[in-house]
Amino acid sequence: MRSRRTAVVATAVAVALPLLAACGGGSEASSSGMQVVTSFYPLQYVVQRVAGDRADVVNLTQPGKEPHDIELSVRQTAELGDADLVVYERGFQAAVDDAVEQSGPDHVVEAGAAAGLEGGDPHFWLDPTRLAKVAEAVEAELARVDPANADEFSANLATLRSDLTRLDRSLSRGLADCRVDTIVVSHDAFGYLGRRYGLDVVGINGLSPDAEPSPAHIRTLQGLIREDGITTVFSEELVSRELADSLARDLGIRTAVLDPIEGLSDATAKQDYLSLMRANLRALQKGNRCT
Ligand SMILES: [Zn+2]
Repeated sequence: MRSRRTAVVATAVAVALPLLAACGGGSEASSSGMQVVTSFYPLQYVVQRVAGDRADVVNLTQPGKEPHDIELSVRQTAELGDADLVVYERGFQAAVDDAVEQSGPDHVVEAGAAAGLEGGDPHFWLDPTRLAKVAEAVEAELARVDPANADEFSANLATLRSDLTRLDRSLSRGLADCRVDTIVVSHDAFGYLGRRYGLDVVGINGLSPDAEPSPAHIRTLQGLIREDGITTVFSEELVSRELADSLARDLGIRTAVLDPIEGLSDATAKQDYLSLMRANLRALQKGNRCT
């Protein structure tokens, strides 16, 4: 199980390498702007939207990598220590927590505090209104680091906020009237989305994609799928689909991709947070038969 997953990740990284070079995520990128380090994709997205071209953004989780268990290179740790601003989420990536503690950057946004976490679940960004709160905290801190450009950050925040509000409205309307209100997902990343839009979320794995389910849990899931008339089991891009596939096969139902947007992969490299959330909405509407 683990070795298979590692192989999949390694392939994705190999494919993603030219992309990395193109993105120029390193400190040698040419700009006189701020250096901002983010720890995984949704935080990178927010900083890029709010800072615009006033910052070089280095993201610690490379495309194709699942962010929960990343390790940092010596160079990445140094970049974090030298950054003008670090945006991360405490308790989500232990290696990043350690590096922040060791290097004590001058300016930090801790996204979990800004988003308001519930019950130890780190996946706040799947509720766009919580990502908007993080964007506000990022804007405030960017203005402290670079006050001369504060007006620009404020204008960029307003644009991002209206995009997130529109997305939130689409999700609310699009999921208001569904035949099925339960979703079975491969790792338990969709709690915030479920609470915001009225879906019961049941994970095959736990909060981390590595936590494997017991046979008793699988039996419970099978019963639930039959009772609730569930026709789709949702899996994701960056982790193995084996469990979701076998569960669906045993019950004669479908699988579809629901992206927890923890990172981009080679399959989603041209997308962004907004387009991936809209793809998630379409997948949910189809799987749960929403009108
Ligand atoms: Zn996760």
